[in-house]
Order: sequence, then C-alpha cells, then structure tokens
Amino acid sequence: MKDKKIAVIGAGPAGMTAAYELTKAGFDVTLYEASDKVGGLSKTIDLWNQKVDLGPHRFFSNDTKVNKLWLEVVGKDYRMVDRLTRIYYKKKFYYYPLKPFDALFKLGIGRAFLCVMSYFKEKIKPTKQDGSFEAWVTARFGSRLYSIFFKTYSEKLWGIPCTELDEDFAAQRIKKLSLFEAVKNALFSSKKNKHKTLVDQFAYPIGGTGMVYDKMKTFIEKNGGKVLCSTPVKKVDTGENGATSIELMSGEIIPFDHIISSMPITHLVRNLPNVPADVISAATDLKFRNTILVYLKVEGVDVFPDNWLYVHANDLQMGRITNFCNWVPEINQDEKSTIVVLEYWSYNEDAIWNNTDEELIALGKKELRATGLIKDLEISEGHIIKIPKCYPVYGKGYKEPLQKVETYLSTINNLSVIGRYGSFKYNNQDHSILMGLLAADNIINDQTHNLWEINTDYETYQETSTITASGLSVEE
Ligand SMILES: Cc1cc2nc3c(=O)[nH]c(=O)nc-3n(C[C@H](O)[C@H](O)[C@H](O)COP(=O)(O)OP(=O)(O)OC[C@H]3O[C@@H](n4cnc5c(N)ncnc54)[C@H](O)[C@@H]3O)c2cc1C
Repeated sequence: MKDKKIAVIGAGPAGMTAAYELTKAGFDVTLYEASDKVGGLSKTIDLWNQKVDLGPHRFFSNDTKVNKLWLEVVGKDYRMVDRLTRIYYKKKFYYYPLKPFDALFKLGIGRAFLCVMSYFKEKIKPTKQDGSFEAWVTARFGSRLYSIFFKTYSEKLWGIPCTELDEDFAAQRIKKLSLFEAVKNALFSSKKNKHKTLVDQFAYPIGGTGMVYDKMKTFIEKNGGKVLCSTPVKKVDTGENGATSIELMSGEIIPFDHIISSMPITHLVRNLPNVPADVISAATDLKFRNTILVYLKVEGVDVFPDNWLYVHANDLQMGRITNFCNWVPEINQDEKSTIVVLEYWSYNEDAIWNNTDEELIALGKKELRATGLIKDLEISEGHIIKIPKCYPVYGKGYKEPLQKVETYLSTINNLSVIGRYGSFKYNNQDHSILMGLLAADNIINDQTHNLWEINTDYETYQETSTITASGLSVEE
C-alpha cells in the first residue's frame, strides 16, 4: 500500500496537512503549488524586514485532532496572544466582543434604548425567515443592532445586499451566538465553552501563521516527499477507474494512484474530461470574492493597541485593519516602524480591482489617516497584494449548484477534494487542516470520512480542547 503514489494540489493548510500526514505514514507524496511559497492564504511573507500575514490570521480550534497536529508541528515556537479587536463605526471605537457599558456609552442612551426595543420586538414578533442573512440576524439581534454591527460590514465583504446573502453564512459563522450570550460573556467572562468569535486568547507561532506550513514542508522533504513550488497544475485526468494523472501547466503529464485537490473547485471541474454540461453550468454559478491587501509602513511603534479592527464606517471602503506589531514581538524584529494592512474586497469587474498599486496605496493612506488611529505619524512605504478567489460567496441559493458539483465529483474514485476554494467552503485554517487530516486518513486507514461535511459549523464529537501556554488543555 505504501507504494501508492499520491499527488496533492495546493500548499495551503489543507494540502500541506494531507501531504504531511501521508508522508508520515510512508506514502510516496508529491505536492504541486502554483505560487513560489507554501502556506496558501495562510502564508507569512517578509516585508520591510518584518514578517506579515495576508491579513489577520488567528488560529483557533476546539478539535483535539487539529490542536494536537498544530502543536506537533509548531513545537514550543508559539506564544499566547491576548486578543484586542474593536469595531470602528461613526468615528467611535467599540470593543468587540461587545462590552455592554462601553457600547451603551458610545451608542448613547437614546440609540441603545432603540436597540433594546428592537431586540424585544423580535422576541414578540420575529421577522419572517426567507433564507437570507438579513432575516436570520435580525431575528436574533433586532433590526437596530443588525444595521449597526452586521449590515455594513457584511455588505462590504460580500458586495451584495444582505437580503441576497444566504443565511448559511450567518448560521455557520455566528451560530449559537445570541445577544444574551454576548452580554453574559461580557459580564461573567468564563473561558469554558466560549463562542469561537468571542475567544480572547489564541496561540500564534513566533514566525507568523505561515511558520506552521514552512515547518510541514521541511518535514515532508526530510522524509522523502516532494513539495514543488511554482508548479501550477492545469488539470486532473480521469479514466474508467477514476482519477489517473495530472497535467502541469508546462504540459508534463504524471500518473498517480490518488489525487488530492485543493485548487479552485471551478478550475478543477472546468478542466476535467467529459463533465456533463449541467455540472459545468452549476460550477459557473459558484462565485468568489477577491481581496486587495494594502500594506502600509507607519514610522512609529505602539501606534494603536488592536490586533485588528473591523471597519463598519460607511464612508470608508476598507473593511478591516490589522496591526502586526501587536501579535508577537518576534515578527516585528525590533524595527522602529509598524506594518498595518488594510483589506478591500471586490469582484473582478469592480473598478478598484483594476486600480494601480499607486492608486491603492494613496487610497489606503487617506483612509487610515481618516480613522485617526495613526495621528500625524509618517507613512513611509506601501505595498499591494491582490488575492483572487479569496472568499467563496454564499449568495442565496448557492447550495443547489454546489450540491450538483459535489455529487458529480463524489463519483470520481481516487480524487479527494478539500480546502477553502477547493471545496467552496468558508473555511478557517482549522477546517482546512481537518479536511487535510481526514483526506489522509481515508487513504492511510481506508476510512470513509465525508469531506464535504466539514465546514465552519461541524461538531466536534470527541473530547474538545484548547491550546494554552503550556500545551493542550483537554476539556471534560
Ligand atoms: C484576509 C484573510 C484573513 C483570514 N483570517 C483567518 C483567521 O484569522 N484565522 C484562520 O484560521 N483563518 C483565516 N483565514 C482563512 C485561511 O487563510 C484559510 O482558511 C486557509 O488558508 C485555507 O487553506 P486551504 O488550504 O483550504 O486553501 P488556500 O490557503 O487558499 O491554499 C490553496 C493553495 O492552492 C494553490 N493553488 C491554486 N490553484 C493551483 C493550481 N492550479 N496548481 C497548484 N496549486 C494551486 C494556491 O496557490 C494556494 O497556495 C483568513 C483568510 C483571509 C483571506
């Protein structure tokens, strides 16, 4: 069995984890990555003599399998980070998770009263559910809180009205979080069973989030596996018995016994042989949102205290600001400057996606200054990274075409489809790591985990755990 030749497409957390596990089990593994570095969206890059991620990357999981793997790879090279995040709205900074007295004070007594009234109105006469994000959130938090703390940010992120966004997005990301839980958490903070979005401490590698995947690469290569960067895959080929080979963009064709793909599901399906027209058409209905990252170098340290901020303000186009200096000291490397990154989201056809780097840096400088966060400190440098297909868009009814594509791909033997854009799931690192673990387990131990079922609201049925400063803490 160990002679089985396995190809893994994509060196993000999903692909790297699968390749790492299969190498550990003694398989003949080759991983193909289109870009020049491993880590995918979770890579860490060097910029102006510091280390930065592609936006904020907090790793958090309750799943013991995932946490054990993370610790096995990272070893002791991590620190616990005290999270500080705020929301910028109408020129004020609100703590997030919300602190009732802070929010009450900043909203003003009149607006806070209206929020509470609209919350109770929902308890008496809930908004009719029509499958949209707007109806889902309004019913749980009331229309006032929805419009202040959910609407503007979500519409910036997705680029469609919240009435057009599928309730799945809310159900998966803010599931079980209610106003009651948020208030209870703020008043009686307890570490046990805290909702994921409210967790206030997390483990972060001293070399940036991408250090995890750099270390996996070292392990794979030391143990006989291959990680080939700058080697994009054009297509997967199939025969009577399922997937047979991959073809690289260079034209080279290489046979394999099993192929694990984390490249965009739309690209995979479009290039497979003999795909029925309705499946191709379903894949075309799946849309992705792009991200533009505007990195700015601010001449000063201790500029503002947040790890990241959500920008709900309507008059600013950016959606989030990250300050890398506030994660772990090692990534700043004793520089006397601070790197921040601003996130802008767009579709291919939006004007901003086609703006020049100079235009985007000028926009970023103007918007960062408008928040008042950096006072009159100099911004000495700017750098742009554009990431296509960053977010799978859960537009209303997205499940129908996705189901069609899933059903078709499930009929192809020896092909495992995993990852964020690989399987069109709004994954964080932990979900992609779990997909990689289970895809490998299916091959190593002949298991039948349904990889399509892993998404942001999967339940951890076994014991749960969290990573603490001294290692794994298993919860009863
Ligand atoms: C701004 C931002 C903030 C985030 N914040 C967090 C956070 O706080 N916490 C968290 O846990 N997660 C966060 N995430 C999500 C996290 O980055 C992803 O969940 C994770 O990287 C997904 O891993 P993946 O392996 O599924 O896919 P990816 O990371 O997308 O990796 C896929 C890889 O496949 C490669 N590839 C694509 N096509 C081909 C091809 N044809 N041939 C070969 N290779 C190919 C790509 O180059 C890429 O390296 C964030 C993401 C973004 C964008």
